[in-house]
Amino acid sequence: MTKAYEIVDHVYDVLVIGAGGAGLRATMGLAVKGLKTACITKVFPTRSHTVAAQGGISAALGNMSEDDWRWHMYDTVKGADWLGDQDAIEFMCRNAMDAVVELEHFGVPFSRTPSGKIYQRPFGGMTTKYGEGPPAQRTAAAADRTGHAILHTLYQQSLKHDAEFFIEYFAIDLIMDPDGACRGCVAWNFDDGTLHRFIAHMTVIATGGYGRCYFSCTGAHSQTGDGNAMVLRAGLPLEDMEFIQFHPTGIYGAGCLITEGVRGEGGYVTNSAGERFMERYAPHVKDLASRDVVSRSMTIEIREGRGCGPLKDHIHLHLEHLDPAIIHQRLPGIAETARIFANVDVTKEPIPVLPTVHYNMGGVPTNYRGEAVIPVNGDKSRVVPGLMAVGEAACVSVHGANRLGSNSLLDLVVFGRAAAERCAEVVSAGAPQKPLPRDAGDQAVARLDKTRHAKGGMPTAALRLEMQQIMQNFCAVFRTGEILDEGRKKLSQVWEKSGALQVGDRSMIWNSDLAETLEFQNLIAQAVVSIEAAANRKESRGAHAREDHPERDDVNWMKHTFTWLDDKGRVRFDYKPVTQTTLTNEVQSFPPKARVY
Ligand SMILES: Cc1cc2nc3c(=O)[nH]c(=O)nc-3n(C[C@H](O)[C@H](O)[C@H](O)COP(=O)(O)OP(=O)(O)OC[C@H]3O[C@@H](n4cnc5c(N)ncnc54)[C@H](O)[C@@H]3O)c2cc1C
Repeated sequence: MTKAYEIVDHVYDVLVIGAGGAGLRATMGLAVKGLKTACITKVFPTRSHTVAAQGGISAALGNMSEDDWRWHMYDTVKGADWLGDQDAIEFMCRNAMDAVVELEHFGVPFSRTPSGKIYQRPFGGMTTKYGEGPPAQRTAAAADRTGHAILHTLYQQSLKHDAEFFIEYFAIDLIMDPDGACRGCVAWNFDDGTLHRFIAHMTVIATGGYGRCYFSCTGAHSQTGDGNAMVLRAGLPLEDMEFIQFHPTGIYGAGCLITEGVRGEGGYVTNSAGERFMERYAPHVKDLASRDVVSRSMTIEIREGRGCGPLKDHIHLHLEHLDPAIIHQRLPGIAETARIFANVDVTKEPIPVLPTVHYNMGGVPTNYRGEAVIPVNGDKSRVVPGLMAVGEAACVSVHGANRLGSNSLLDLVVFGRAAAERCAEVVSAGAPQKPLPRDAGDQAVARLDKTRHAKGGMPTAALRLEMQQIMQNFCAVFRTGEILDEGRKKLSQVWEKSGALQVGDRSMIWNSDLAETLEFQNLIAQAVVSIEAAANRKESRGAHAREDHPERDDVNWMKHTFTWLDDKGRVRFDYKPVTQTTLTNEVQSFPPKARVY
C-alpha cells in the first residue's frame, strides 16, 4: 500500500501533536531541555482553539485579596464532584502561582491592578476558606483575551528556543510497535499532498477537545478530538468520556461563548419574569456557582416555561448595569462578539444565552507527569511506553466530573511543562531508535487511501450533522436511560452509514473534503464512547445529570470509567478508583460531601 504514496521519514527525540497552549508549552519545554522536538499541527499554531479562551487562568496569587492554593485545591475537588484525582489536583494548584508568574516573564501582557500586580477576577466555583468565605478573586486575565495572549507568547518562546514546526500537517494515526509502545505517527501535509512518518522516542498528544460531536458548541471547527480517536484506534482506552461540560452562556443561536468573566465582573442571568433565579438554586454564590449547576438551573427555568423571547427558549445575561468603562477595559471582546452575533449593545440590553457544549473532561488517561496510562488489575495502572497526552485531550484527571472555569488554561501550562520535564528524564537526546516494524504506518495510509476513494454516496457533512443532532438531543444537560438508549440506537445507525461515505475530491493537496471525512471518523468514534459511557453510569455527578438516577452514588460510582472501542463500534468498559490521597503532607485530602453552592 505504502508504495502507492511517497512517504517522507523524520526522526526526532520527541514528537508533539498539536500546537495549542498545551502542545506549545510542552514543545517549548522540550526545546529548552535540548531534546530534538517536532511539533505538528493541522492549523497554524496561533489559530488553535486556545486563542479563543477569554476569561483567564486560575492561580492563588492573592493579588486582590487573601488566597491559598489549598483553597483552590478544595474548590477544584468539589467542582469535580469528587471524581478528580487529588494527587494531580494538588500538583496543579500548588504549581499554579509559579506557572502564571512564568507566563508573565515569558511576556504575557496580563491586565494590571493600580499597583501594577497581575489583575485577578472572580470565577464560578472559586471560593475562599474551603468554601466558607466569599468568592475568591483568583483568575488572572489579559482583558477578555487571555488565551490569545498566552498562545502568541508560547509560540514566540518555542521559536526562540528553536523547536521545529510542521504546520498544516494532519496526523492520521499513531505508529504502535508489537510490544505496545508508541513510536510516532503518520501525517499528511495539506500543502503538497505528501505523507510523512514522524519517528520519536516519545509522542505527546495535545490535540484538544471534541466539542464538534455536538450541533452547538463554543469550540472551533477544528475541535474534532483527533488524538483521542487515534488512541482508540491504537487499541487503547479513553477515560471519563461521559463528562461533557455545557457552558451556561453561549450566545443563543450562534453558540459563541460569552465568558464567565462577565458574571465575575458582576453580570447576572434572569428568566422571562426578570427574576435573578440563581438566588434560588445557589443562595450562597448565586451566578458564580459552577457551570454544571448554572446550566441545569437555566435548563429547568426554560423547561418550566420561564424562558425568555417569543419561544421562551433562552435566558438573559445582563451587564448593562456595569460601568461602560469597565466593559471597555475588561470585557472588550465580549461587547464585540455580542454585537456581531446577537446584534446586542451590551451597555443597553441583555444578551440572549443558552447552555452550550464547551469542554470535554474525558480524554487520554494520564498520570500527573503526562504519561499515558491504562488500568490493570482494577486499582493499578501501567504506563504506555512512548505515549503522553496533555491539555484538553488528556484526562489527568484534575477536572473530574466538572471543570471549573479558568482551570483549563492552568492545566495546559502546568501539565505541558510537567510532560516536558518527564521527557527530559526518560528520553536521552539523540539516542538511536529501535528498528521499526516493516509495515509501520501502513494501516494509517490504507485508511487514508480508502477514505480518499470512498464513493458510497453519503456526503460527510450530512452524516456529521445527523451525529451532531443526535448528541445534542439525546446526550444533553439532563439525561435519562430511555433517551440515552434511543440516542445509542440512532448513533449506531450513523456508525453503520459511515461505511458508505462519499468523498468528492480525490486530490491530495488541500483536500478539505478528505480532511473533514477523516475528522468525522474521529468524531463518531468519540460520540459512540461518550453516549455509551453516559448510559452506563447510573448516578448523577458533576456534568453528568441522570434524571432517573438523580443522586451521586459514591459507593458504586466513585470511580473512573475506561472505554475501549472495537472496529464494529462496540464499547468495552473497565474502571479505576479515584485517587483520594495527596502527594505531600502539606495538605490533607478532602473526603466527599454534598456539593452545594
Ligand atoms: C471559546 C472558549 C473560551 C475558553 N475560555 C477559557 C478560559 O478563559 N479559561 C480556561 O481555563 N479555559 C478556557 N477554555 C478552555 C480552554 O481554552 C481549552 O480547553 C484549551 O485551550 C485547549 O487547549 P489544548 O492545547 O488542549 O488544545 P487546542 O488549543 O484546541 O489545540 C489543539 C491543537 O491540536 C492540533 N491538532 C488537532 N488535531 C490534529 C491532527 N489530526 N493533526 C495535527 N494537529 C492536530 C490543532 O492544530 C491545534 O494546534 C475556553 C474554551 C473555549 C472554546
